[in-house]
Amino acid sequence: MDHVTNRMQTQTLGYPRIGRDRELKRALESNWAGKLDARSLMAVFDSVVEAGWITQREAGIDAIAVGGESLYDHVLDWSIRFGLIPERFRGLEGLKRTFAMARGLPGIPALEMTKWFDTNYHYLVPEVEADVTPVADFADYLALIGRARAVLGARAVPVVPGPFTFLRLSHLVAPLGAVLDKLLPLYRELFTALARLGVTEVQIHDPALVLSGVCAFRDDIERAYAGLADSGVRLNLVTYFDDLGDAYPWVANLPVDVLSLDFTRGETLSLIEEYGWPAGKVLAAGVIDGRSIWRVRPGTVQEILSRLQALAAFQVSGTLRLSASSSLQHVPHSAARETGLPEALRNVLAFADEKLTELAMLARGDLAGANAAWATFQAFAPADEAVRARVAALTADDFRRALPYEERRPQQVALPRLPMTTIGSYPQTREVRQLRARYTRGEITTAEYEAGIDALTAYAIGVQDGLGLDMLVHGEFERTDMVEFFAQKLTGFAFTQHGWVQSFGSRCVRPPIIYADIARPKAMTVREFSVAQSFTAKPVKGMLTGPVTIINWSYPRTDIPRHEIAYQLGLALRDEIADLEAAGAKAVQVDEPALREGLPLKREHWDAYLTWATDAFRLATGKALPETQVHTHMCYSEFGEILEAIDRLDADVISIENARSDDATLGELAAYGYPREVGPGVYDIHSPVVPTVAFVEEKLRSFLRHLAPERIWVNPDCGLKTRAWAEVLPSLQAMVAAVMRLREELAPANSSQSPGA
Ligand code: GLN
Ligand code: ZN
Repeated sequence: MDHVTNRMQTQTLGYPRIGRDRELKRALESNWAGKLDARSLMAVFDSVVEAGWITQREAGIDAIAVGGESLYDHVLDWSIRFGLIPERFRGLEGLKRTFAMARGLPGIPALEMTKWFDTNYHYLVPEVEADVTPVADFADYLALIGRARAVLGARAVPVVPGPFTFLRLSHLVAPLGAVLDKLLPLYRELFTALARLGVTEVQIHDPALVLSGVCAFRDDIERAYAGLADSGVRLNLVTYFDDLGDAYPWVANLPVDVLSLDFTRGETLSLIEEYGWPAGKVLAAGVIDGRSIWRVRPGTVQEILSRLQALAAFQVSGTLRLSASSSLQHVPHSAARETGLPEALRNVLAFADEKLTELAMLARGDLAGANAAWATFQAFAPADEAVRARVAALTADDFRRALPYEERRPQQVALPRLPMTTIGSYPQTREVRQLRARYTRGEITTAEYEAGIDALTAYAIGVQDGLGLDMLVHGEFERTDMVEFFAQKLTGFAFTQHGWVQSFGSRCVRPPIIYADIARPKAMTVREFSVAQSFTAKPVKGMLTGPVTIINWSYPRTDIPRHEIAYQLGLALRDEIADLEAAGAKAVQVDEPALREGLPLKREHWDAYLTWATDAFRLATGKALPETQVHTHMCYSEFGEILEAIDRLDADVISIENARSDDATLGELAAYGYPREVGPGVYDIHSPVVPTVAFVEEKLRSFLRHLAPERIWVNPDCGLKTRAWAEVLPSLQAMVAAVMRLREELAPANSSQSPGA
């Protein structure tokens, strides 16, 4: 393919899919709103896809992954292509069916959505029924590959999901092996069709091979790959997001021609050095990190490559390729566009386009520029010595409350039984968004803006007071996003203008960048807290986002350990809590909705993560006065496996999502003997449906079957920012009415919350 014969070949595994200016997002949303027809939507899709191919070709990439592009989600696409259409969608077809499976229709629930490995991308879980007969429907895929070949020629390498990964991520009723055997003929049919198009190599993305426990499926996987060998195309088995661990020796020997492995996470290099490399097989070394926004550190990559090249297996020319470690869909398009960032920072950023350049330059052995950029950056973002010293001086005392729960609880606020509260945010109406936008554009003064926020706060407090809630919140009207708000008030963060990445479907996020040490120049939330508290005699919670969530929803520096960054954040939050206490706060809530999603892929790494993660939370809250009630909130309900970590947070009250999980979590908490207070959500805030009093009452009665009344708080599942007031008011009314009924039943008059049972 190239006239420089000793140049290593380069490959990609995928490219951002939503469009440089989020064209596809806009087109999808207009289509759903009935303002753009299907043909125009497909035209936007085609042009976004083709632009991505051309960018990769122009960058000189030799093997370009194609076919992973998707209107909504690539896993959903393969459910459809394999004919795995659940019964409830069978009356539909075409785009209508695709979007129904993705987003649901009235009375037809969508497929479940969940995180793609440990990334922030979410896919739609295939549903594989017991008596399933998969049926091939590859026309759209083959057409896409045909177009890719027209643009890219032989550089186009089709991507298909690995059969093991596809099924491992599915809801299966039958045993995996049995379904696998039904899928294999479809794969063979597909490979034959691809070969007919002139395709010579196919990337089989099977990242579930890196998950713990894969060895239990060894027979199935070996049978699958044996069945795929000799199907007319070269097979490139691709894994990422970690190393293969115990599975390395047998996965390396599967009958494929190329193996693409991730060298940016886990211990892939050591595995190869220890167990060797099968003669004749090509290694595509994923040394350019597809998930980091940072430029490569030349020393790190050169070390990997020279250790590989020292092995006899890679001295044969053509046996070593350079690859991105994963699809580039997890990073934004282009750092070069971020002209608002200081040059010294911008020059060490590498988004998708810069990663293509890095691959090409690495292939030419030319990385010198990166060294210079990193040296300049080091001077631009020096260590904050005061912050580092403060972290270095931490002792065990910094991580624990002065008094154990039983002793501090009597000093905290006394509230009626089944105290009622909400999770923080109230409706972010157009009025709220317009107020913030006008302020950002400089159309109103700070005083005018604050007056506007305070009026909204006054209304929210009035509502809560009027309804009779017991612990109030200010409503979070000043926050666009629970992480960005704090990031903007702390040092060490930078913000992009165009740095969007797809979270799911048309939804994109733009995480802040942690580029330096973190400090808190001044109080972040005290003004809004004080204003809110001035409107009511009831206690108002100070509302903070926890350290782990801030890190997990940002792009952190990779040369500072994550626990160190988390402790820096913990200290900033600790100072904020002290300021809130000085302003009169009787309770603070430190939200950690992203705690669970930071869990490493491999079980054996969970403890290390959970230890620093809970320590960071304890650092943030440990110096809260005994009389300050510390709340936390998590928006998921799968606690079972991390109950000890949840307990270790030592929060006085935890509110959790519950409405969609049939109280399973409550049962687990009760069985565990969770010793503090819990606010399980009484209704689902994701749905516009207003709960009835009877519904909430029934929920509360079921809570009472699991937990002593002294342990129970009453609140919705999560914040109310996505809802309208017209939904919030009657929903909270129903909540209050149900509590009033139960209080009468439960309580001898004027009993107040006590540590109890
Ligand atoms: N306090 C935040 C809110 O109410 C919590 C949001 C979340 O858990 N994701 O919006
Ligand atoms: Zn939540």
